[in-house]
Amino acid sequence: MGKIKRSNQTLTGEGLALAGLITGYIGIAFTVMVLPMLLAIAIPSFVNARSKAIEAACRNNLRMIESAKDQYALDHTNQYPRMLSDLAGADGYIKKMPVCQAGGTYSLNGSNEPPTCSIGGKHALRLTAQPPAEP
Ligand SMILES: [Zn+2]
Repeated sequence: MGKIKRSNQTLTGEGLALAGLITGYIGIAFTVMVLPMLLAIAIPSFVNARSKAIEAACRNNLRMIESAKDQYALDHTNQYPRMLSDLAGADGYIKKMPVCQAGGTYSLNGSNEPPTCSIGGKHALRLTAQPPAEP
């Protein structure tokens, strides 16, 4: 721009140069403002998808523990295992002890209760029934 002004009419296209600068600045402003907006939308949904996957994996682990527990009871004249470690190892009801990706620990529970994850909530095989609300 300055070079065009200083050239004493030998160089032209001042309007075009101005339009180019404006377009460039609009592009920069768009990037600076829209990119964080897109990230703000995308990042929570990635986090949400990850936690949903972890919850699903945890429920699968609980399902595996539950079926191993039932299998153990069938093989041991209806005697349910006392500890989670009874299911793993030599007897081979579970080859490798499952681990909750969110850091929860599993409890075997009794014969009429499904195994649970210490995290609870969606880290559970069945949602515990809520007592009916009082009228
Ligand atoms: Zn869990």
